[in-house]
Amino acid sequence: EAVLPLPAATRIFTISNQKGGVGKTTTAVNLAAALARSGARVLVIDLDPQGNASTALGVDHRSEQQSVYEVLVQDLPLAAVVRPTTEHERLDCVPATIHLAGAEIELVSLVAREQRLRRALDTHLAQMTDPYHYVFIDCPPSLGLLTINAFVAAREVLIPIQCEYYALEGLSQLLSNIELIEKHLNPVLKLSTILLTMYDSRTNLAQQVAQEVRDHFPTQTLSTIIPRSVRVSEAPSYGQSVISYDYSSTGSLSYREAAGEIARRGARQSQENN
Ligand code: ADP
Ligand code: MG
Repeated sequence: EAVLPLPAATRIFTISNQKGGVGKTTTAVNLAAALARSGARVLVIDLDPQGNASTALGVDHRSEQQSVYEVLVQDLPLAAVVRPTTEHERLDCVPATIHLAGAEIELVSLVAREQRLRRALDTHLAQMTDPYHYVFIDCPPSLGLLTINAFVAAREVLIPIQCEYYALEGLSQLLSNIELIEKHLNPVLKLSTILLTMYDSRTNLAQQVAQEVRDHFPTQTLSTIIPRSVRVSEAPSYGQSVISYDYSSTGSLSYREAAGEIARRGARQSQENN
């Protein structure tokens, strides 16, 4: 396994796109697994009531389990709901349960309703002897209070874009929401990374979408493109990343490459800033 540079401070990503089925969860889980294998300590926070990231990492998220819901709504410390994964010893997960579906409404009347995840996460990181190198927050397909909590807790936004029809539709709304958050709630938030997913090189459309995204976001778009691959879609039902499910598959290879790019870009940027 290639060893990648580790960030000096925790890099916190929110994986956002208000569209469903674009590869948010797949990206969160597989990048996290790739980075853990390359030497990083990684946390995935599942913020989608569906709990797909929890499932993909083999973490119990039945409704009687405590989850990120209790953290957001009942002020339970994050440490109380961090679970190890069978995927990798350096990869932990905060599961979501179906109760989270109600949190969108319950949060409305709570104080500091947009900051609750941030406070819990920052407190946890500050208390850890060896804090995580990476945190990935897997968002639900909406722009409600759960996603806002993720934007406020994160420092970087990663947008997965599916190389298909209407890929760019809704993107301007997402971008203006990120700008609003930056202005009012989280000045350090930046769109650092765009990942093209589910690419089918046989279609002209996929190539056009990829080119269009690169034209709009030349610095943010990773060179690596995730191909459409059956192995990627099979892995979650075994509670595994595609990397442990089928190490030498194209999906595994491309997620490992994307993780490498993210790690090396971060290292380059922190050098430039010093
Ligand atoms: P989201 O979290 O944005 O809703 P998912 O990550 O759950 O999207 O992906 C939607 C569906 O597409 C899932 O069934 C997933 O397994 C599948 N999928 C994601 N990425 C790929 C890929 N590269 N190749 C094939 N299937 C994929
Ligand atoms: Mg998802």
